[in-house]
Amino acid sequence: MPAPLSFVRRFLDALPGDDRTDCEPRPVVGASWSRVQPTPVPAPRLLAWSRPLAQQLGLDDARMQEPLTTQVLAGNALWPGMDPYAANYGGHQFGHWAGQLGDGRAIVLGELRAADGSVQELQLKGAGPTAYSRRGDGRAVLRSSLREYLCSEAMHALGVPTTRALSLVATGDDVVRDMFYDGNARPEPGAIVCRVAPSFLRFGSFELPSARGDTALLRTLTDFALRTHFPELGTPGREAYAALLHEVAARTARLCAHWQAIGFVHGVLNTDNLSLLGLTIDYGPYGWIDDLDFGWTPNTTDAGQRRYAFGNQPGIGLWNTARLGEALLPLVDDDERVVEDALAHFQRVYAKAATAWFGRKLGITIDPQRGDEQLVQQLFDWLVAHPTDMTLFFRALGPLLLADAPPTALPESLRAAFYGEVPEAHAAAGHAWLQRWWTRVHQEPRPAATIAAAMAATNPRYVLRNWLAQTAIDAATNGDVSVLDRLFTALQRPFDEQPQFAEFAQKRPEWARSKPGCSALSCSS
Ligand code: AMP
Ligand code: MG
Repeated sequence: MPAPLSFVRRFLDALPGDDRTDCEPRPVVGASWSRVQPTPVPAPRLLAWSRPLAQQLGLDDARMQEPLTTQVLAGNALWPGMDPYAANYGGHQFGHWAGQLGDGRAIVLGELRAADGSVQELQLKGAGPTAYSRRGDGRAVLRSSLREYLCSEAMHALGVPTTRALSLVATGDDVVRDMFYDGNARPEPGAIVCRVAPSFLRFGSFELPSARGDTALLRTLTDFALRTHFPELGTPGREAYAALLHEVAARTARLCAHWQAIGFVHGVLNTDNLSLLGLTIDYGPYGWIDDLDFGWTPNTTDAGQRRYAFGNQPGIGLWNTARLGEALLPLVDDDERVVEDALAHFQRVYAKAATAWFGRKLGITIDPQRGDEQLVQQLFDWLVAHPTDMTLFFRALGPLLLADAPPTALPESLRAAFYGEVPEAHAAAGHAWLQRWWTRVHQEPRPAATIAAAMAATNPRYVLRNWLAQTAIDAATNGDVSVLDRLFTALQRPFDEQPQFAEFAQKRPEWARSKPGCSALSCSS
């Protein structure tokens, strides 16, 4: 028998809970959580689990493979020390205050003291209704659970701050979903992901007590967050509250810059989907940029407004930080300068981080005196003028530095990033830019080979392209998890050349251009 696991009760003991334990939808006032038991499922099967995360948590292979573990990860059993609850929070959805939302289909099983010394919440998504389920069923479908599982772990391997995913369990039950909200509801296989993070606190966790005028709860929650997750910011008090907002602004700004650098589009950046810790959280209708397009959104629910389109993410990060700032105002004597300072800080941090990322992606230390900003701008103007695969394009740049002279024409490796026929004038313009870039990089003090190696560690070869995720979903729906397994393995080393996984480094095939799941996703999951 594996040694017992150790669970702590930071959240439950520090914050007030709801008196009721039933799942009747209701406003939960004056409390941050409601106790709830996961609803058992008939035939759980462990489809996949993340060994790197399991090891970090102290869950060895023997533990992961024992039948009880699958039962726990399916919501059918608890490990001793687990005391499950759903968290209460609100949020601004698509720009409008939506009031109380809460964990409608997420249940925290417990806070595990992990092998690496950290404390991590284990949370099931799709384990049945809670007091916050409103009209929802508390369940999740295989396609969205698989996407969350794969993307969480792929993002972590890319170095992007994110919640993690330990496991993917098929429930054996069907879940009825109307995927495109067009009246075609149908049963789909259900699944449960076990998500892992030091905290799932969201901006909306603070907005809810603030909007209700419950300053006492707001203060208790903020003090808890400071003591538990930001001890370096000092003892709770006015200064520490301001410092917290400042720090969250900076983390959010850096996260947005990182998303822009790798071509990740979250899809639903409502304030309930922004983590206090600056993690990517709540993978829903997210997508990856194939051909670079700042107006692209994978989320069909947002197709009209495009509020959460790729190019809007940094602005939305700022907007959401403003909402968090407003929520914290009662704690800083309603001093709006605290919020203004944090927003100005966001903008500075974002500009610096984005500049650093695009400099690294291009192998230069951006220097306005040398016209580097224009060089970057010219590149983007050129990239958006003809559909060009963002990931392939940047990845192909580094190796060009190893030649003795700039390319004499637009190289094949770059042409391979184009979608469709390329007008020769466009290719010529690209070649001209490439020569300027090549010459500029060779003015850097570091040797070209060193720069090329650094670029290969910045510009990934493998990202979770939308069509790849869909291929894994199609196979898993037919009972074959081999594509999921191969993709997971490839995405663990996104910066390495892995010839055995070359098929995953291909641009979007024509069949995937408008296929649901590949370019268009809804919130229905
Ligand atoms: P999301 O769009 O996933 O961030 O969810 C927004 C809100 O809707 C959160 O409060 C979720 O818990 C809730 N929700 C989404 N899907 C379901 C579902 N199937 N059952 C219950 N609640 C849900
Ligand atoms: Mg959410």
